[in-house]
Amino acid sequence: MKLKILVVAGDGIGPEVTGEAVAVLREVAQLGGHEFTFSERRIGGVAIVQDGTPLPADTLNGALASDAVLLGAVGGNEFNSLPPDKRPEAGLLQLRAALGGFANLRPAFAFKELTVNSPLKPEVVDGADIMFVRELLGGLYFGQPREWNRTTGEAWNTMRYTKDEVARVARVAFKLAQGRRKKLTSVDKANVLEVSQLWRATVTEVASEFPDVTLEHQYVDAMAMHLMNQPRNYDVVVTENLFGDILSDEAAVITGSLGMLPSATIGGKVDLYEPVHGSAPDIAGKGLANPLGAILTGAMILRLTARLEAESNAIRAAVRKVLEDGYRTPDLARNNPEGYQVLSTKEMGAMVRETVKTLLVNA
Ligand code: NAD
Repeated sequence: MKLKILVVAGDGIGPEVTGEAVAVLREVAQLGGHEFTFSERRIGGVAIVQDGTPLPADTLNGALASDAVLLGAVGGNEFNSLPPDKRPEAGLLQLRAALGGFANLRPAFAFKELTVNSPLKPEVVDGADIMFVRELLGGLYFGQPREWNRTTGEAWNTMRYTKDEVARVARVAFKLAQGRRKKLTSVDKANVLEVSQLWRATVTEVASEFPDVTLEHQYVDAMAMHLMNQPRNYDVVVTENLFGDILSDEAAVITGSLGMLPSATIGGKVDLYEPVHGSAPDIAGKGLANPLGAILTGAMILRLTARLEAESNAIRAAVRKVLEDGYRTPDLARNNPEGYQVLSTKEMGAMVRETVKTLLVNA
């Protein structure tokens, strides 16, 4: 199959981790006879320095002409004094808006019998595997009116959704659940908010299109507690923008390191894939970054855009195997009481690549 991927590596550790993700994807393409083409463009701080803007037109056009965009991270301390709309992060927000994805997918997982660094008890997180689907274009972050009236000392935001906006993100979540453990949890605050009542009624209506998926509803406050007490009870979780922002960050605790987490934003003109972490200026350029979040982000490209399920699974299995064999990047081996073999970014990338190769050749 043919796939055009635009790589916007960005700042800090962005180029280091996307470099490893691209190398794994190249390996998969070569083994399977697929034609993946990779182009590179600038975004964020590096684009501010070289092009005078965090999102050059050339980058946006390149993104719109691709099948998928792989983004590293943006941001750097040297840009912190710029106004918000001129900073590296503005480039990312503009790109997300232009691509128009409404469903943000963020897995949170702990490989079975292989807890890496989570502060939660191993018996609580072991094997937890949750896919968050956060609605990304509606709710409080976009609703009008919004204002901080400094004269009267009042401020307000508007949580607004249309039935269609809820239904389309619900369908994404139900379809994902069909390919997993067939359970969907919809999170709202329907005991207080009318928007949540619309949300609950719409998700319930859409459920009739997916009779093989079990739907349950949870209030967001209870969900915040259940996620930490019994994360293994959840499969796919769908929720609105603000609740999803908070709950998916909370669930990141299950995995133990920000460097492990991938994400995808789908439903727009072009799918956008990015590891969850930022540009990590404190470790940039030192070979200390964990590339597994970026590599798993590559696996999401294969599953969701390329529909190469077996290859995507092979990458995930390779990441598990490498961890199982006792290899870690420094973020996963603080103090290292277990005596893990600590690898650099490049070494970890190469280890995953070799393992993917072995798994695919022997499949
Ligand atoms: P961060 O995610 O960059 O780093 C938080 C901590 O996690 C740091 O200690 C860092 O070293 C560590 N870390 C992050 N990714 C890691 C990895 N792959 N391997 C090992 N350790 C890792 O968040 P921050 O420090 O709050 O922000 C730094 C910059 O990144 C800021 O400019 C911020 O605006 C930007 N940022 C960008 C994005 C994005 O591009 N999507 C997301 C968050 C933050």
